[in-house]
Amino acid sequence: MTVTRFAPSPTGHLHLGHAYAALIAAEAGSRFLLRIEDLDQGRARDEFVLGIFEDLAWLGLAWEEPVLRQSSRMPAYRGALETLQAQGLLYPCFCTRKDIADEIQRATEAPQGPDGALYPGTCRHLTQAQRAARIAAGESYAMRLDAARAAGLVGALSFLERGHSVSVDPLLFGDLVLARKDVPAAYHLAVVVDDAFQGVTLVTRGEDLLPATHVQRLLQALLELPEPAYAHHRLIVDAQGRKFSKRDQAMTLRSLRAGGSTPADIRARLGL
Ligand code: GLU
Repeated sequence: MTVTRFAPSPTGHLHLGHAYAALIAAEAGSRFLLRIEDLDQGRARDEFVLGIFEDLAWLGLAWEEPVLRQSSRMPAYRGALETLQAQGLLYPCFCTRKDIADEIQRATEAPQGPDGALYPGTCRHLTQAQRAARIAAGESYAMRLDAARAAGLVGALSFLERGHSVSVDPLLFGDLVLARKDVPAAYHLAVVVDDAFQGVTLVTRGEDLLPATHVQRLLQALLELPEPAYAHHRLIVDAQGRKFSKRDQAMTLRSLRAGGSTPADIRARLGL
């Protein structure tokens, strides 16, 4: 049985790119699940959650209930962080964005990841006493993965992308943030914990997230979670070749619907 999911963030209305991702996921699965990625409570809005339900139903999709909301999953994320912490794989990071930018400026070589320069490792070098003193002083901190140490622990890993084995580069994103300063979790951690919890066996999503699979596979191994298969799909882009974003109001399903498009028109436009 293939279990798939669609996992939008409720920070805006669904656009054509989301419709494509949702239709691909629903059609690939014998069970289709929905997950609301509302970790970012500053940006997530209930109005958009309701909008997601409405737009997906309008497209003709049906998903299993209950819908999982990441905001209800903090205890599970905390448990996963504790597992990593117990393996000595996390460290507190007190850096601000500016601290990181300044450090990268000063560095003679700044290793690049898929999203730009990697974290330079500043706080990895703090002593236990320095960490304790800064925490006691009330400084806010994120928790980062010590990627090199994690890589040493798990050995060679791979994941299946459309039936082909891809070797994992565990250092691709460097020392990622796994718990943010403002939220006690972060995307890469939450997504692997929730895919396992929901029994997802096939992750379909846009190819912009293919690099993320490397670190997600690493986290699955560290947390001893089952490994789903992956099938990343093309991105739906605008006339300029850019990914649709929250800015493209005209491409939201609700404005297309208001303009007279039917679900069949949307599918045709997406080449489905
Ligand atoms: N929330 C992510 C998005 O909207 C999807 C995450 C995932 O599928 O792993 O792009």
